[in-house]
Amino acid sequence: MPERKRLLEGFKTFRKKYYEDSDWMQQLLKNGTHPDFFVIHCIDPRSGAATVFNTDPGELFGDRVMGALVPPYEEGNDFAASLSYAIKHKKIKHLIILGHTQCGGIEALVNNTNDKDIAGWMSSAQHAFDYAKTIVGIQNKQALCEETEKQAVIMGLKNLMTYPTVKDAFDKGDITLNGWLFDMKNAAIYGYNTAKSSFENLTDPQQGQQQQINSL
Ligand SMILES: [Zn+2]
Repeated sequence: MPERKRLLEGFKTFRKKYYEDSDWMQQLLKNGTHPDFFVIHCIDPRSGAATVFNTDPGELFGDRVMGALVPPYEEGNDFAASLSYAIKHKKIKHLIILGHTQCGGIEALVNNTNDKDIAGWMSSAQHAFDYAKTIVGIQNKQALCEETEKQAVIMGLKNLMTYPTVKDAFDKGDITLNGWLFDMKNAAIYGYNTAKSSFENLTDPQQGQQQQINSL
């Protein structure tokens, strides 16, 4: 019970902030929500988008899946439904994959976990893992995990374009596609630059290149 009490205490803080000290939630209920962002993020409890980006209720859609993986399009799957709703009906402007460093899901893939459920889901990143091996080899596990984390984000961007709703909105210029990586150790957000085929430090660009090489 003490653990659950923590959540209820947290709810009271939330209620005070958004119901009692302001009419934030009442305004959202009255006017509806029109978030600019849709973020696909990992189940890791340290990497939640609302926490990392310090957003208020109503500011972003979030879809949490292990490894922040995006599998290829399949009619009516969770992603197809969520993205269709957010893009067609709520007119989001930016679609973001938020991977992160030290990802347990990616580590399970690299370590070839024998948990069939985890392995089954993470196998959708097999191509990213295989490609990472060609870049950093298999000797250094940490380097392989870090490279796979990056390649999984890039793979996710490619897979997003297999979703008809996403491709249509992107081709029309209605949405941007963004592959980001939360570097938990160095407290920075990196973004994939498609033209340069590299990740760049978005939060502290002056430190970008060096830190990029050292930490990712
Ligand atoms: Zn993760």
